[in-house]
Amino acid sequence: MAFINDHFLKLQAGYLFPEIARRVNVFAKEHPDEASRLIRCGIGDVTEPLPMAAIEAMHKAVDDLASRETFHGYGPEQGYEWLRSAIAEKAFKPLGVAVDKDEIFVSDGAKCDTGNILDIFGGNNRIAVPDPVYPVYVDTNVMAGNTGNSRPDGSYEGLIYLPCTAENNFVPELPQERVDLVYLCFPNNPTGAVATKDELAKWVGYARANDAILLFDAAYEAFVREPGIPHSIFEIPGARDCAIEFRSFSKQGGFTGVRCGYIVIPNQLMGRDSQGKPVPVQNLWRRRHCTKFNGASYIVQRGAEALFSADGIRQTNGLIDHYLCNAEMLCNAFSKVGLRVWGGRNAPYVWVECPPGLGSWEMFDKMLHDINVVITPGAGFGSKGEGYFRVSAFNSRDNVEEVCRRVQKLFA
Ligand code: PLP
Repeated sequence: MAFINDHFLKLQAGYLFPEIARRVNVFAKEHPDEASRLIRCGIGDVTEPLPMAAIEAMHKAVDDLASRETFHGYGPEQGYEWLRSAIAEKAFKPLGVAVDKDEIFVSDGAKCDTGNILDIFGGNNRIAVPDPVYPVYVDTNVMAGNTGNSRPDGSYEGLIYLPCTAENNFVPELPQERVDLVYLCFPNNPTGAVATKDELAKWVGYARANDAILLFDAAYEAFVREPGIPHSIFEIPGARDCAIEFRSFSKQGGFTGVRCGYIVIPNQLMGRDSQGKPVPVQNLWRRRHCTKFNGASYIVQRGAEALFSADGIRQTNGLIDHYLCNAEMLCNAFSKVGLRVWGGRNAPYVWVECPPGLGSWEMFDKMLHDINVVITPGAGFGSKGEGYFRVSAFNSRDNVEEVCRRVQKLFA
């Protein structure tokens, strides 16, 4: 008999996006005439072509593999030195943040990293997650056995939820109790909220005072345009003692299908073994990464490196401008019809309060059936997401203009 990991049985039926896909498929089958009108503002996948600098670099990298002199087989598990140097120089140095290239671990994306990081932490940590939240943080903790069973509202026993509400501008307050690991994500998925330096400084202060580690997901940092809003947790003094940062080329360079991300673990970051003795976290992650991962592909890493060239930076900025302009149009459209709107300014997500009397899945069904627009119900991100929905700005301009027209009609 082969025993399974029982913790998987605690997972709620269906991850959010499969459930959305299921409802959309049922709708398309039942209304084939309307299926071609569907506009998807649900899943946060990019729509625009890759920056030309990355395309050219990846073409060249393919050619490198065609001759013995420039061929590349297995690369360094941690990522090629030239990519890690480019990240340190171009992603962090301009922020005034010194990151050593050896503190950077290149991967195939932030989803895997945010899930895999649990391998190196013990099973008795008190873990705090925002609510609403990117579901991967919660589900991977369930799989790792760090939670109890689910409750009727979809939350799990054993996790500490940090409510993100209109009252706190969707930036969670410090927990009353001591926690050991805290997930934070800014700019935020799903709410589009950003945190100020002062707000992040409170979290760094909390982590240092409580010997906790912040797991800071900066997958959307490229969308930060307002001066003064941090791109990295390491802009906050003291964060190197208490934080790990997750980053991704998915949204920065449209790499959702190419797959590349990275994680930064400062040399001095310490966890504790069961005897309370400090242990460098980075060593554990290096051991884990090199054992379970064989490196992101050479071609992909060359593409990522090219995003930091002068052309790459210009083209990437153009891409982000496009999505931010979409976000602004969507914010305006929903505000105009009288709904309360957050996010969409330094983030590609617009977070909208449902009209009175409608729950978030009801709003999902209404948008799907009445105007053939797919959004994401806030309840899918946690119980505090009930009463809200997320609209993604990852779309063509034509589609966004059409969504704005349809929203106008729906509420006319
Ligand atoms: N972190 C957050 C908050 C996300 O929203 C996403 C993707 O939507 C990811 C991580 C995953 O990024 P990647 O494509 O690098 O796996």
